[in-house]
Amino acid sequence: MDLFASDLHLSSATPDLNAAFLHLLEGRARDARRLFLLGDIFEVWVGDEDADMPEHRPIIAALRALSDAGTDVHVLPGNRDFLLGAGFTAATGATLHGDWLRCDVAGQQALLMHGDTLCTDDLPYQQFRRMVRHADWQAAFLARPLAERHAIAADLRQRSQQAVAGKAEQLMDANGEAIAAVLRHYACTLLIHGHTHRPAHHTLEVDAVACDRWVIADWRDRACWLEADDHDLRAFTTADNGCIVSDPRHF
Ligand code: MN
Repeated sequence: MDLFASDLHLSSATPDLNAAFLHLLEGRARDARRLFLLGDIFEVWVGDEDADMPEHRPIIAALRALSDAGTDVHVLPGNRDFLLGAGFTAATGATLHGDWLRCDVAGQQALLMHGDTLCTDDLPYQQFRRMVRHADWQAAFLARPLAERHAIAADLRQRSQQAVAGKAEQLMDANGEAIAAVLRHYACTLLIHGHTHRPAHHTLEVDAVACDRWVIADWRDRACWLEADDHDLRAFTTADNGCIVSDPRHF
């Protein structure tokens, strides 16, 4: 079984979700052959020194324990935690990938992404993304003292929230042409991503080939994830009583 989660946005402000993630890592994920975390695990990550933050330490330890127990942990960077680096992979045993990962999922050739690169209509965001993903910008940022990095990140986050509030909903969704283009380019029939916080299972045709697109739910108020066996994908969440239930938003 493969397990997929995205957009947990964990921080010191989300103790319940942090505990839910630990519960998932120590429980259900132990049965998984592979765990794919598709970005924005952490609300803020300004460098691998952040692994030492009190709210992060138990999570890092639980990822390490899961890796050691035999589950392959794969991480793709999100738009909040794109500075995850070698210190994070050394501490957790996870494999850190670039902006996309192509692999076999549920018997299909699948493309895994965070999803922000698909939001091509949001030009100011894409411009910002090019800046912060540039090696020179990252080297200069990481050379700053940790406290200064956190201050800059808080400022950027506030500005981003203001910008999001002024943007049309449609502008921040994945662009249909961008979706078709990546499926075509990577010769995949299954696309799994998060980022948009619009959980769904879409079906589409690309060059007359039937394709699926699964958008993973964010962890606004509860844990949500996908599981894949050799043939199918299914979405799960936790009910108020803590029971694992299928997530109706993906039908
Ligand atoms: Mn995101």
